[in-house]
Amino acid sequence: MYLDYIKQDDLGFTKLPDGRYFFRTSVLTALLQCPYKLHFIAKNNTNDFQKHIALIKGKAVHATTSFLIEMYKAGLIKDAVKLADKFIANYLAETIKVYNKNVPNKQQLQLLQNNIKIAAFNFAKYTFKNFKSYITEKTFIIDRDSFVLKLTPDLITEIGIIDYKTTSKPITTRFYIPYDYALQMAIYSYYLAVDAQLLYYSFASNQLLLTKPGSFKNIEERILRLVEILETNRLYKNTYACATCFYRSMCMLQK
Ligand code: SF4
Repeated sequence: MYLDYIKQDDLGFTKLPDGRYFFRTSVLTALLQCPYKLHFIAKNNTNDFQKHIALIKGKAVHATTSFLIEMYKAGLIKDAVKLADKFIANYLAETIKVYNKNVPNKQQLQLLQNNIKIAAFNFAKYTFKNFKSYITEKTFIIDRDSFVLKLTPDLITEIGIIDYKTTSKPITTRFYIPYDYALQMAIYSYYLAVDAQLLYYSFASNQLLLTKPGSFKNIEERILRLVEILETNRLYKNTYACATCFYRSMCMLQK
């Protein structure tokens, strides 16, 4: 049986009392890409703000976008502009209570807050203008004999699922969708039986791009194979995925 440290729920995966694996989609896609990441996902569970900055920023953008969409729906656009700063400042203050180590200085926090605001306003305006119906951050549980999967797409509209992503790269004709994002969309699409697309906001070019990633076959078979790998503790390294891996520096130290 694999490691005891996977008991913590907030890692995004755990072993349930009935023996099944529980996955959040983001962790599932990381492990499907390279099962060896399991070592680092668990060990990276610290309260270091800077280490989790991408995650913190992503969550804050999503929360602020949902807040703005609700304000728009209620016809409170002017209030939304006034309240957004306060909402984000409160959100970050709460986050700092959890990630209280290595917290950015005041100036860095202000920059982070501005970036969250710009991205969230772009996402909320696009959503409000282009879709008639929108449900934000609804959770679905997929229950199988050997695993349980938690799906929380950012947005469900009349054209299907939309997930918000930000990028520091400019949006050009050669814009590339990372493998794990494409796989995440394929998982949503497979289990919820709707189209799934990504809405990108680029900080570099101040542009939005709605794009449909390529498809993947055998989604459930891939997950069942991963469960078997975890069960038998055969965490192989997928070196094809190293170039873009978040854990690369830690992994390179291990033989
Ligand atoms: S650096 Fe490569 S082998 Fe190591 S965890 Fe990342 S993807 Fe896997």
